[in-house]
Amino acid sequence: MDGRFVVVGAGTMGVGIAYVAANAGYAVELVEVAPDRAAAARVTLDRLWHGAVEAGRLDPDAAADAGGRVVVAGDLAGLAPGPDVLVEAVPEQAGLKRAVLEAGRELRPGLLASNTSSIPVGSLGTGVLGLHFFNPVWAMPLLEIVVPDGTPDDVVGTARGIAVRLGKRPVVVRDSPGFATSRLGVALGLEAIRMLADGVASAADIDTAMTLGYRHPVGPLELTDMIGLDVRLDIARTLQAAYGDRFAPPPLLVELVEQGRLGRKSGEGFHRWQDGKRV
Ligand code: NAD
Repeated sequence: MDGRFVVVGAGTMGVGIAYVAANAGYAVELVEVAPDRAAAARVTLDRLWHGAVEAGRLDPDAAADAGGRVVVAGDLAGLAPGPDVLVEAVPEQAGLKRAVLEAGRELRPGLLASNTSSIPVGSLGTGVLGLHFFNPVWAMPLLEIVVPDGTPDDVVGTARGIAVRLGKRPVVVRDSPGFATSRLGVALGLEAIRMLADGVASAADIDTAMTLGYRHPVGPLELTDMIGLDVRLDIARTLQAAYGDRFAPPPLLVELVEQGRLGRKSGEGFHRWQDGKRV
């Protein structure tokens, strides 16, 4: 297998996308502006491959080959033109995403895509498609392909092909704020936060109510911790601007983000976390 896959932003999502793309045989260039994030990305990737070998999901040679296919770069400008795919996974801020995609377009990628969770992709630049991955990328089988009006069918076909190569099950969704997944998922998450603030139940009990009562694999507050409270706050603000106050971020969410309680990545959100696990 061949092909080049550029990922911009080596945070929670970018690292995961780079990992699955390398496992699918792409030569991956992972672009990250923050040197500490770039160094952490390499450590996380090595840990993921080590874990996959230990668990018997990958043989050591395949893991070593995949690891050798990822290059971490500090800047898009130094990359060769013509990658098959360029997907941005920088923070959920429209202006930043537009600037990154504009720079990415200069490389003339076969597919120019955004991993935004909520911003209409048509507003991020002409010809941009949504490739919305889920966290953790290596474990979540869904890829939401977000298609602005007027996108040629063959572009959607290319995106479906990429999804299948990455081992993902694609769903195709018309471009609109929050698409299918974030619009429904965030509605549930925000209501759970309001319920916690109202004293309806503890965070643990609200989560258990949904896992045992509705067979959700993870409760809405634990999921918010896993996604990042700051990420969910950005998404809520985007959806509030589009759909009105039913998506207004609850004051408790704003307060926790201001306190730096961002969920799993900071060690505390609605629950406490250690080494990536809820404690
Ligand atoms: P994150 O904050 O963990 O990572 C973003 C990374 O982008 C950071 O490392 C940052 O230094 C880097 N960055 C910023 N500007 C850059 C630039 N100009 N060039 C290169 N790198 C740059 O964020 P995340 O949670 O990975 O989210 C990224 C995107 O994915 C957001 O749009 C988010 O909405 C979306 N998303 C997140 C999740 C989730 O569960 N966290 C799920 C699906 C989609």
